[in-house]
This record gives sequence, C-alpha cells and structure tokens, in this order.
Amino acid sequence: MNGFVKEFKEFITRGNVMDMAVGIIIGGAFTAIVTSLVEDIIMPIISLVSGGIAIDEWGIALAGGGIIGIGKFVQAIITFLLIALVLFCIIKAMNKLRAKKEEEPEAAATKECPFCKSEIPVEATRCPHCTSELSKEK
Ligand SMILES: [Zn+2]
Repeated sequence: MNGFVKEFKEFITRGNVMDMAVGIIIGGAFTAIVTSLVEDIIMPIISLVSGGIAIDEWGIALAGGGIIGIGKFVQAIITFLLIALVLFCIIKAMNKLRAKKEEEPEAAATKECPFCKSEIPVEATRCPHCTSELSKEK
C-alpha cells in the first residue's frame, strides 16, 4: 500500500500531469463556450434564416414513438467543426511562432572578418570583401 501511495504521489507531482489537468479544464470550458455559441446564437440565426424552423427540434418521428434527432446531430457536427477550426488556428499560430524561433539562430550564421570587419558567412575560409585568408576558428 505504501508503494502505491508513493507511486501515486510521484505521478501527481510530475509536471505534465498538472499540464494535462489544466488542458482538460480549459478544454472543457472552451467546449462549453463553443456549444453555447452554436446552441444559443448560431442555431437561432439558422432557424430565423430558414423560416422559423428550430433545427434542434428537427427530426424524424418513428412509428414506435421515438425520434431520430437529425437536428441535434447537425448541431453536434457544427460544434465539432467550430472547435476543430479554432484548434487549427491555435496550432497554426503556434507553428508560426516556432518557425520564427528556429529562424533566429540562422541570423547568427555570420561572423566578422578580423581584417576588414565586414559580415561574412561562418563557413567562409576566405573573406569575400578583402580576400584575406581566415583561420578555421571563429
Ligand atoms: Zn575581410
């Protein structure tokens, strides 16, 4: 039992567990916002445009008394597409930031020629400006 508690404590105190928990909580709140956006704003607008048909009540009544809720299913698909779209935008923005970070070391791919003080590529063994031979060390 002691080993179990210790293992659980190690699992909980590992940083990524907390990151995961924060992600799940933010994700849940975000899903609630998007669901509300679809159900409370987009769906009423669609029903207004479509001439007063409440999409979420749109379904096929079965002989046995059940209803195939096509409208609710469509609502769920719209919610999913919106969440996917927002996630795509977030991931795209993050990739852009990451690409920018990777470009920075490339900017430092030049060195200063010790003879004429002009910027030349790190790999250069002869200065293109003053034609001085450069030592291998930077
Ligand atoms: Zn030079």
